[in-house]
Amino acid sequence: MTDCIICKIAQGTIPAQKILETDTVVAFMDIAPQAPVHGLVAPKAHIRNVVELAAHSPDLSQELVVAIAEFARQSGISDDGFRVVANTGDDGGQSVDHLHFHVLGGRSMTWPPG
Ligand code: 5GP
Ligand code: ZN
Repeated sequence: MTDCIICKIAQGTIPAQKILETDTVVAFMDIAPQAPVHGLVAPKAHIRNVVELAAHSPDLSQELVVAIAEFARQSGISDDGFRVVANTGDDGGQSVDHLHFHVLGGRSMTWPPG
């Protein structure tokens, strides 16, 4: 999609601090981190949310989970724990309309979220 930040990051047309990349997924640091470690893990294809993801091959869901785990391991937050969030739609607070999993760590999280 032409006017999508995550599509552009995936294609390399706008810069991002990429942590890992495969043929199908990309992980990069959030531009406005909400924790000492804050990455975004996304499919390269323009899939809007987890509802659309569910209609795709299960392989892609698996690849995203593997990328989340690998991002956490490389960022050093696997052992102490971290949070994975996919804001979805208006009530979910999604501002970028391309599926992405926030991976937040490096501090203790609170619950419930706002
Ligand atoms: P959402 O609100 O959709 O759950 O999350 C969108 C996230 O994308 C936000 O945390 C925001 O900081 C991040 N973001 C927005 N624009 C950019 C950008 O150009 N580069 C990077 N790395 N992150 C971005
Ligand atoms: Zn996109």
